[in-house]
Parts: sequence; structure tokens; C-alpha cells
Amino acid sequence: MIEEKLQKRLRKSIIVVLCIIVVLLIGSGLFSAFMYNTRNESIRNQVILEAEEYKTRIKKQLEADFQTLSTISAFIDNSFVTDKNLLAERLDEANQNNTFLTIVCYDLNGNGVISTMEQDPDVDAKLSDLSSEGRRVVEQAMEGTASVSQLFESVISDNSVFVYSVPVYDGDEVIGALAASDHIEIFSDIISGNTVLGGGGYIHMLDADGNFLIRSSKMIVQDKTPSIFGGPYLSEDSRSQVKEALQRQERIFSSFSYEGKSYPFLLEPVGINGWYLFCVNTGEGLSTNSSTSAIVTQITFIVVLMLVNFLMLYGYRLLRNYNRDMMNLAYCDSLTGAENLSRFRQRLNEALENSGGSVVAVSIRQFPFINEIFGKERANRLLCQIKEITEQHLNNGEFFCHDTDDRFYIFFNESDPDVVRKRMESLIDEFDLSADISKTNYQLAFYCGVVESSRCSNPEETADCMMTHVQFALDRAKGAHSSTIWFFDSELHKKEELENYIESHMHQALRDGEFKLFLQPKKDLHSGMLSGAEALVRWQTNDGRMIFPDQFIPLFEHNGFCAKLDLYMLEQACKQIYLWMKKGIAPIPISVNQSKLMFFEADYVRNLIELVRRYSVPAQFITLEILEGLALENIDEINSKILQLQKEGFRISLDDFGSGFSSLNTLGKLKIDELKLDRDFLLNASDQEQSRVRLIMEHTIRMAGQLGISTVAEGVETPDDETLIRNFGCDIGQGYLYSRPISAADFDEKYMKKADSRNLAGSFDS
Ligand code: C2E
Ligand code: CA
Ligand code: CA
Repeated sequence: MIEEKLQKRLRKSIIVVLCIIVVLLIGSGLFSAFMYNTRNESIRNQVILEAEEYKTRIKKQLEADFQTLSTISAFIDNSFVTDKNLLAERLDEANQNNTFLTIVCYDLNGNGVISTMEQDPDVDAKLSDLSSEGRRVVEQAMEGTASVSQLFESVISDNSVFVYSVPVYDGDEVIGALAASDHIEIFSDIISGNTVLGGGGYIHMLDADGNFLIRSSKMIVQDKTPSIFGGPYLSEDSRSQVKEALQRQERIFSSFSYEGKSYPFLLEPVGINGWYLFCVNTGEGLSTNSSTSAIVTQITFIVVLMLVNFLMLYGYRLLRNYNRDMMNLAYCDSLTGAENLSRFRQRLNEALENSGGSVVAVSIRQFPFINEIFGKERANRLLCQIKEITEQHLNNGEFFCHDTDDRFYIFFNESDPDVVRKRMESLIDEFDLSADISKTNYQLAFYCGVVESSRCSNPEETADCMMTHVQFALDRAKGAHSSTIWFFDSELHKKEELENYIESHMHQALRDGEFKLFLQPKKDLHSGMLSGAEALVRWQTNDGRMIFPDQFIPLFEHNGFCAKLDLYMLEQACKQIYLWMKKGIAPIPISVNQSKLMFFEADYVRNLIELVRRYSVPAQFITLEILEGLALENIDEINSKILQLQKEGFRISLDDFGSGFSSLNTLGKLKIDELKLDRDFLLNASDQEQSRVRLIMEHTIRMAGQLGISTVAEGVETPDDETLIRNFGCDIGQGYLYSRPISAADFDEKYMKKADSRNLAGSFDS
């Protein structure tokens, strides 16, 4: 029970621990996901912020450049356009105050002036000499729209340049276009990339088609593919997404994989020429702080989780070990290490739920002597050896225990007594063979009591019942000098149970008047009249059971209680006679059985005299039935007692003659008044085949008659029986033919109320 409870608790705590672990794991997963998202979100926001910043810077730069160009153009009018030298002078002047590489001014015919830093101006420049991109922008300006070119390789300055171009007005009329080129350095921050995303990323600039305009020097992808659609950048999916976004000039987040690593990137439209900022996050930059803190949090979380798990596991182990210790304390025998009786009973209950089996109780003969002769240590060693051997002999599902001292109990899965006997025999042989003590001259012997589960009918109490019954079987096995295996016997046990009841309740029964006087009539075969009655005891228990004398008289004779009972029955007989006399009914003699014990009591005669006097009963009405066996011991003493009793008026009857070692010799010596021929005598004599018995019976009766001893035949059951004994000359008959023993009250009613009812001539009551 305790073990089950502890196990249940353990199971509960394990479930709770597992639940907590699961919850913590889910929590940590969600937390990590949250941290991851937050981190991604913050990185995205950061990238967007930075991209915005760069966009602003680029725009500002471009605006400043346009502003400068517009200011210069404001000073150019028709006269300058026509006077190329003047124009060249003016452009050189303007170029001194800004950072443009080249400033060019073309009239609508495509003739113009080029002013290049630290070079002489070219006053004979042709628009057609410009690279196509430069030309496109200038022509756009001539149509009235200021614009900026893509990055291209300048033919003039051998550099990657941008060209800005604004229209030159004279009044409202466009008279030419002013253009300036600036090299890539204006995006130096982008190119150097050191500050981009706090060093954790870089930015390229793309045109509207995804071609690279400016590449950051920090780029991860080293292949210089002209476009992000080439090379390793985009997977098929993101390629089409990016393409669509570029067409719509929208911001897009995506990622590309390079050398097994994934890099998130942002494509942010600049708002000029369809340009894009291609911001790549390498994961080591600005956001490191937040990501580090996320990682630290996660690690802390995992460590805490592991710690909690560890503590729980540790607690669980402590509990389990504690539980085990408790179990050992509760269920183990410290001497042999075997399980103890409590555990055995528990396991027996469990085992019997599934199937039957047998329980064997094993005890060592004279174990206290083994202790004394060989010492406690060797005696204990013997117990340990028995434990080890038993352990090795058990099959699956079988178990055993060591109870106190030399007592072991074994459960076998077997219900077949022959198999159990064989297994026990081989086990005992093994004990004998292996025990140290057997190597001395000492002959070890084992007593075994066995009970099969089928002996116990109540399924709910089978285990308890088996454990009780096995003790009885063991008790039976004890006493022999060699090893004995005794199987529990239900019939024998019932008898033993009754005997136990008898012995433990006899005093109380006597006190409470449970011993009742029953009377059986005796018939005078000469007159046909009731000649007397025999007092026969019946034990009517409080719960209504009737116990017959054959069941308890032998026990009482053995334990000495019979003397008390006989005196009591004698008193009942006296009371009955007294009652008849009191009622004016002529009493009949009552024969009372006297045990040997009583007869030999010192005060026997005195007690009897005292008793009949107390009830004023003439002793003649009391016949004392004694057994022949008692006469074998000291015939003179018996005869002297008989004489004393006869002197007082008591009659003496010799009971059960012909049943045992009856001898005519004793008959001749004993001074009795009546001879009761045993039922067996008549039983045999009534058999036509047994003519010799008949002859003996006949002569015994005749001889008794000649000795002046009246004869009573017991066990008269049939009219033939009666005829037979009558022919033999027998005086009195007693048996079921007339009546079974009946209660004194019934007897009184039947035979004592009316005078004619004493005539038994025709009243056969079988
Ligand atoms: P018992 O003294 O020989 O008593 C006769 C027994 O034979 C009685 O059994 C009686 O019921 C039985 N019996 C009588 N007629 C017949 C018959 O026709 N056929 C058969 N088959 N049996 C018959 P019960 O009463 O069971 O007594 C058994 C024995 O117990 C007695 O044998 C007697 O020895 C002893 N007993 C009975 N009462 C007392 C008592 O108060 N004190 C002592 N010491 N012994 C008693
Ligand atoms: Ca008798
Ligand atoms: Ca008898």
C-alpha cells in the first residue's frame, strides 16, 4: 500500500515536472521566436532607418548639385552661348567654387564648352562626343527637364561619373543645357561601407533594372555580376518578387544565400532615376547589441531551464532513493535481505488476482537448537543460504519471504500438489546439500505446510485464508524427525476447528447450561414396560448448533473436563428424578455415563452421595455406567468403589461390553449389577452368517443372568433385533426401535405424563 502510494505520488510529481518542462520549453520556444522576431523587426527598422538616411543624403547631395548647376545656369544667357570663350571663362570660374569634375554647356545645336578641373576648357565641344548616357541627360535638359544620369564611364574624365543637366533659359526660352559631372565619391560613405549598419552591413546602389550602380567595397558576394538578378543573389521565388517590386518602385525585404549563409537585405527605392539602395545585413553590425542580448537572454533561459530540470531530476532521484530505503525498511528482512511477510502478503494478493497457486510455509526442525549448538552466526548463515537457494529455484511470477526466525513462505504458480511436492523435495535436497551445517553430523530437517488456493473459496479473502491454512498444515508437518511436507486438508481442518471451538468454549458452555440432558428409554423385555433411561449429553450452542458427544467426549476425556461434565449430567439426572417425584410421578432409574477420570477422583463416592442427597433422590434410581477399560487397571480398587456405591444404593452397569477387549475374566471379577452389550455385538449377532457371535452373545447373556447381572442390549433397531435378544434371554433393550435420545422435556411429555405410555410393547419409535 505504502509503495503504491509513493509510486502514485512519484508518478504525479514526474507528470508535474514533465508538464513544467514542456511548458518551459514551449515558453522558451515562444520567447525565442519572439526575441527572434523582435530582433528581426528591429534590424529591419534599423535598416530602413539607415536606408532612409542615405536616401536623404543622396537626395541632398543631388539637390545641392542641381542647385549649384541652376545657379550657374542663371548667369548664362544667349550672349554666353554664342561667345564660347566667354562661356568657357564663366564655366571655369564656376568650377573653381564647387567639386564638379566637368561642367559643360551646349547650345541647342549641340555645340558647347567643356570646363574640366585643372585643364584648359574645350570651347569646341560637340554634344555628339558625349557618351550616350551623358547625351541623353543633356538632351532631356534641352527639352526643359532637369535630370541626372545613370553612372557611366566618362570619356572625358576616365571616371565613373554622374551627369546632372539643367536647361539654360533666356527668359522663358530654353537656349541650351548646362551639365556637370560628378564622380562616384559623393557616395563615399556607401562605398566605404564602414558605418553602414554599424559595420554589420553594406549598401550597393542599383538602377531601376537591378543593375549595380555603385558597389560597396565591403560586399560579401565577390563575383561582380552586373545585376542582382545574375550571380548567387536571388532564389527563383525572390527573383520574381524583387522584379515586381522594382517595377512598382516599392520597398522590399528579402534574403539571399551565399556560401551556405543567409543574408537578409532591403531594397529601398531612392526616388531618383528609379535608383535603389540595396542594403545587405551581414548580421554583425549595429544590431549586434540587441541580438547579443537576445542570445544572452536565451542562453540564460536555457541555463535556468536546465537548472530547474536538473533540480527536479535530482529531487526525483532523492525521493526515489528515499522511497527505496523506505520500501527496504518496510518490506525487507534485514537479516537475509529477502522480502518480509508484509510484502509477501501484498504480492500474494496481487498474484491471486490473476491466477491460482500454492503457498508453502517452511520451517527448520529444532532451529533454537541449531542456534545453541552452532551459534547465532552460523544459524543466520543457514537462513541466508536458504534464502539464496530458494531465490534460484523460483520461476517467473513466484516469490518468497523470510518471516521471523526459521520461517519462510514461498509462493509457487503451481496448483498441482504433486508438482509442488516435487519442487519442495528438490528444494529441500538443495538446502541439505548446500548448507554448511549439513557438512557436520547434524541432520537438518525441514517441515513444510502447503495450501493450494483452491482450498479457499472466498476470492476476496483467498490470500488471508491461505496464510491461515498454511499454518495449520505446517503445524501438522511438525513433530516428525525427517523432512515432512504436509498438505492442508479441509476435512481435517474442519474437525480441528470444531475441536478448537470445543476446547475454547467448554467452560463457558457449562456455565451457560449449553449441555443438555437427553434421555433414551430402556425397555424391560419381560414386561414390555419402560424400565429406565440413559442420560446422554447434547451440546446446544448459543447459535443453535447441536454438537454430539462423540465429537467432544473423547476430547473432554483427554483434557480432564469430562469429570466436571459427568458430575453436571449426574446432577441433571438427579434434578429430573427430583422433579418427577415432586410432581408425584413414579420415577424411573436413569443411567449416567461415568468417565474413567471421574471414577478415579478421590472424592468421587462422597460427591455422588452428596449430590443424590441434595436432591433427595434415592440412589437406587441412579445407574452408573462405567467402561470396561477402566477396570483393567486396578480391579480391587474399582471393586471397592463399586461396593461403596452399591452400599449407598447406586447400581453399577458395565457399558459397551463386547466392543473392545471385553473379557469374561473381568466380567467375572467385577461386582456389577448390569451388563450393557455393545451395539456392535448385536449388529454382528443379527447377521445370520455370524452364528459364532450369536452363540457368544447368547452365552454371555445367560452367564450374566446366572451371575445375577441383568443384561441390556444396545442398538436395538429392528423388531428382529428385539426378537433375537429376547430369545437370548436378555432383560432390557435400548435402541432406536423404541426411541432415539430425546430432550428431557420431550421424554417427560412422551413417557412420564400417563401411566400407560410406559408400556413400550407396541410403541415402536424408529
Ligand atoms: P453410549 O454410552 O454407548 O451411548 C449409546 C449411544 O448409542 C448414544 O450415542 C446413542 O444415541 C446411540 N444409540 C442408541 N440407540 C441406538 C441405535 O439403535 N442405533 C444406533 N446406531 N445408535 C444408538 P450418543 O448419545 O451419541 O453418545 C455417544 C457416546 O458418548 C455414548 O455411548 C457415551 O459413551 C458417550 N456419552 C454420552 N453422554 C455422555 C456423558 O454424559 N458422559 C460421558 N462420560 N459420556 C457420554
Ligand atoms: Ca452408556
Ligand atoms: Ca454403550
